[in-house]
Amino acid sequence: MLDLKVLVTEDELNKRINVIARKINKDYEGRKLTIICVLKGAFMFVSDLMKKITVPVEIDFITAFSYENNKSTGTVNLGNGLTENIEGKHVLLVEDIVDSGITIKFLLDMIKQLNPASIKFCVLLNKSQNRKMDDINIDYYGFDIPNQFVLGYGLDYMQEYRNLPYIAVSEN
Ligand code: 5GP
Ligand code: MG
Repeated sequence: MLDLKVLVTEDELNKRINVIARKINKDYEGRKLTIICVLKGAFMFVSDLMKKITVPVEIDFITAFSYENNKSTGTVNLGNGLTENIEGKHVLLVEDIVDSGITIKFLLDMIKQLNPASIKFCVLLNKSQNRKMDDINIDYYGFDIPNQFVLGYGLDYMQEYRNLPYIAVSEN
């Protein structure tokens, strides 16, 4: 069992997600939004965020993983691909966390090649101290966090702990 310390509470998550959703609703007014959720980690964030979206919205999923156990491998593996054609659509890529930036750079480059009308990037947690890619533009983010391994609220430790309703750090 891990010894956990809460880093971001459920209440703080809710409040911040309301703020992000309000911004997105304003920015996409009069347009239809296509959310692409990066699995597995972003599923809970996207679920809560999407309930607060008031513009027309569709969703698709993509699986990317660069972590094995709790270490980044430095290369991005792509699992399930998109099921919808995103050409001409206003895409918002939603991810759980940006660390080195390698995963998101790879996904953004890939999505750009599919000719969406626009593409923006939304991430819940920004771990900027370990950034290796310097050209990552974050349009919406939840929290800046220190360079520590976090889990909960969709994020795992060896596939477990995704069910926690808050973000935690491990003390051991
Ligand atoms: P990057 O490619 O930016 O280094 O890493 C991004 C991916 O690594 C994220 O999508 C996430 O799946 C995983 N990751 C990075 N930091 C953490 C962390 O602190 N905890 C967990 N559970 N996953 C992380
Ligand atoms: Mg991820």
